[in-house]
Amino acid sequence: MEKAVFLDRDGVINELIYHQEQGIIDSPFTVDQLQIICGVPEAVALFRKAGYKVIVVSNQPGVAKKHMSKKTFEAIRQRLVDQLISKDANVDAEYYCLHHPQAKVPELKKVCDCRKPKPGLIIKAAGELDIDISKSWMVGDGLTDIQAGKSAGCKTILIGKEKCELCRRMEQENAKPDFICENLLQAASVIKNGAKP
Ligand SMILES: [Zn+2]
Repeated sequence: MEKAVFLDRDGVINELIYHQEQGIIDSPFTVDQLQIICGVPEAVALFRKAGYKVIVVSNQPGVAKKHMSKKTFEAIRQRLVDQLISKDANVDAEYYCLHHPQAKVPELKKVCDCRKPKPGLIIKAAGELDIDISKSWMVGDGLTDIQAGKSAGCKTILIGKEKCELCRRMEQENAKPDFICENLLQAASVIKNGAKP
């Protein structure tokens, strides 16, 4: 069986964007807004070198919320993959939840099993790609990523700075990650060193 590093996308691989018109911080809504975070290609390359498959698992309700068309979503997805490949940082697979319980697009309005914090995307990927979840990691910037990873049975890393408010919520929501790292490159060194920070 293989082992994997499951990566959230927005805020981990690419920068979150402040959308002035809507007044929200969210995914890029256009191809031009896509910006890979510094150090990410190097981190992805390190995961692969350490024998991990790299799999994107991400909630992407932008189409459901009519922030972008399906075509734009695909174009952003393709640009992200191309930019990583150009730096020798291939991802092995991508799994997206496109649903949202309050979607404006009727066919995507759904309470599904794949939207994190549910572990559906990780479990599906593991089944299809023969991955041993207990030897795998979920890395994300939100507590929903940590919850999904823990429910699936992964080790977990939260990308971000430990803030008091977040610590309190981690306890309340049973979403305490195994490690907290400032960025994906730091997470790569934790995983590479066999979970010694
Ligand atoms: Zn879903």
